[in-house]
Amino acid sequence: MIEVKTRGELQAMRAAGLVVAATLAAVRERARAGVSTAELDELAEQTIRDAGAVPSFKGYHGFPASICASVNEQIVHGIPAKEQVLAEGDLISVDCGAILDGWHGDSAVTLAIGEVSEKDLALSAATEAAMWAGIEAVRAGNRLTDISYAVQTAAEKAGRDDGHAYGMILEYGGHGIGRQMHMEPFLPNVGKPGKGPRLKPGMALAVEPMLTGGEGETLELDDGWTVVTADGSRAAHWEHTVAITEDGPWVLTAPEEA
Ligand code: MG
Ligand code: MG
Repeated sequence: MIEVKTRGELQAMRAAGLVVAATLAAVRERARAGVSTAELDELAEQTIRDAGAVPSFKGYHGFPASICASVNEQIVHGIPAKEQVLAEGDLISVDCGAILDGWHGDSAVTLAIGEVSEKDLALSAATEAAMWAGIEAVRAGNRLTDISYAVQTAAEKAGRDDGHAYGMILEYGGHGIGRQMHMEPFLPNVGKPGKGPRLKPGMALAVEPMLTGGEGETLELDDGWTVVTADGSRAAHWEHTVAITEDGPWVLTAPEEA
């Protein structure tokens, strides 16, 4: 039920992952007040194509762009737009996917535009910490929901440390990945441990928690894509594509080590 890749196939996925990492680095560099999310999208598409890869989001079920740009109360699947100009204090999540030689990489970061509130910084840090806790559980011998449990536990701990219970998004989560962006299984960000398929070397999963500064209820906008918090609170989203090796998790979308 979870596809197992060869070492060579994982290396091909790593190459795709590096394109995504370089693209998100370029977007991070450019993202500042006064820049539109459409400009970030153009930069991302150019970076992906210059690397000989193809943006996986563009045309995916009709999605019109190469990144999802989700600003403030937008959680995921925000459509880049000329009219969406970043302002000081915004919190933007950028999700990006690329296909190289038929293999997919998928990763997301949350970026602070200029000075953002302490609360927003803590929200993004909590979400990133939950992602890394989940990644630590992407190990042979674990079961799928050991990852969910690790994500949930880390998010709850961050909430206790920050004195604020974060909203957990139940409808969206991680997924298998390989020659398609979204493959079996769905990986919930919340759940009891010890359930679901046993993890084996050669499997690849995208781990992607989303947290909000308020409740976890979501709404989809009339554009058919953008998912926002029902209560207007801000959201953060972090994601990496991770492979299971004999030596532990291999973060395929992490930037190359110096
Ligand atoms: Mg993604
Ligand atoms: Mg994903």
